[in-house]
Amino acid sequence: MEDVFVTKVEIYKLDIAKKQPFRFSLGLLEQTENILVRVYCSDGLYGTGEGAPLWQITGETQAIAFEAAKVLGRLLVGKNPYAIEARIGEINGFMTHNTTAKSALDMALYDLLAKRAGLPLYALLGGENRPFYTDETIGIDEPQSMAQEAMGMVDRGFPAIKVKLGTNRVDDVARIRAIREAIGEGVLLRIDANQGWDPVTAERILQELAQYDIQYCEEPVAHWNRAALRRVREKSPIPIMADESIFDHHDAYRLASIGACDYFNIKLAKSGGIHNALKISAVAEGAGIQCMIGCMTETRLGLSAAAHLVSARPNIVFADLDSAFNQTVDVVAGGITYEGGRVILTGTPGHGADIKPEVLSALEGSVLTQ
Ligand code: MG
Repeated sequence: MEDVFVTKVEIYKLDIAKKQPFRFSLGLLEQTENILVRVYCSDGLYGTGEGAPLWQITGETQAIAFEAAKVLGRLLVGKNPYAIEARIGEINGFMTHNTTAKSALDMALYDLLAKRAGLPLYALLGGENRPFYTDETIGIDEPQSMAQEAMGMVDRGFPAIKVKLGTNRVDDVARIRAIREAIGEGVLLRIDANQGWDPVTAERILQELAQYDIQYCEEPVAHWNRAALRRVREKSPIPIMADESIFDHHDAYRLASIGACDYFNIKLAKSGGIHNALKISAVAEGAGIQCMIGCMTETRLGLSAAAHLVSARPNIVFADLDSAFNQTVDVVAGGITYEGGRVILTGTPGHGADIKPEVLSALEGSVLTQ
C-alpha cells in the first residue's frame, strides 16, 4: 500500500426528535442526541461513523462523546487509517471508557477500509449477505397501551417483540400478561429489566413470567453484580442475556468463565466499535454462547454498521436494531432498509450508509487537520 494517511477528521453533533418519549428502567429518553464522525484519507476516500451515547449505560452524554471524539480523532490525523489494529490500539491506550466516542471512529475506519477494498463491510469481514430479522421494542407504560403497541408490531410483520420491564413485580407481570393475551402464541417475546430488579425479586418474577413463553431476559439485576447474575440464571426458567454487564471481550471472558449468562448482547456503543465486537463474538464462540446485536439510539447509519456485523458473524443470532423507528426524520442516505422486521443490507462498498449532505451542512461540528 502506498503511503496513505488521514488528512482530516470531522466530528458533529446530531440531534433528532423522537416520535414519542421512550421509558426504560434507567430513565426517560426524550430526544436522540448522537455524534457523527468522518475520517478522510489522502487517497480521496472517507469513512463515516456514528456514536449514540446513552449516559445511563456508558457514562457519556452527547457533549462528553463529542469532546472525547475530538481528542481521540486527533490521534488518527497523519496516520494510516487502514492499519486498524494499530489505530484502535492507540485510541484504547490513550483513554479508558468513552466507548461510544471510540465506536464512532472505529466505524468510520471500517467503512473506509471496506470502501478501499471495494467490498460491502460484511464481505470485508468474511461474511455473506445473510438476511435476518430485528425485533421492535416497547418502552415501559401501562399494560393496556403496551399490549396495543405490541399488536401494531405484529401487524407490521415483526416476528419478535422486546418489552422493557424493571419497575416492580406486580406491574411487570401485568404488562407481560396483557401483551401475551393480546398477541396470542407464535410471536417471540423478549424482556429487558435494565438492572431494575434486586436478585430475589428477579428470581420470583422470572418464575412467574415463564408461563408466558419468554425467549430470554436481558440484564435482570445490577450490572456490577456478576455473582447475583449467575445465581439468577441458575434458578431462572427463562434464559438470561447479559447487556449492561458486558462492554468488551474482557467482560465476555469474565461472564463466560463463571457461567453468569446464556447470551451476550453486543452493542458497538459499549464495545468501542467493530474491532472489539469481533473479539466478543470470538470469546462467545469459544464459550459456546450465542449473541444478539443491540442498539442505543442510532440512526440507520450506526444500525447499518451493526447489521453488517450480524451478517458476518454466524453466532450473532438475534438482532435488536430498531432505534431508527422512533425518529421523526430519516437523515441517512443509503444503508439498511426494513421489510417488516427483515433487515436488508445494500451491496455497496463500506457499510453503505451516509448522512444526507443537506443534513450534514447544517450540523454543528469540529474539524481536525494536520
Ligand atoms: Mg438491554
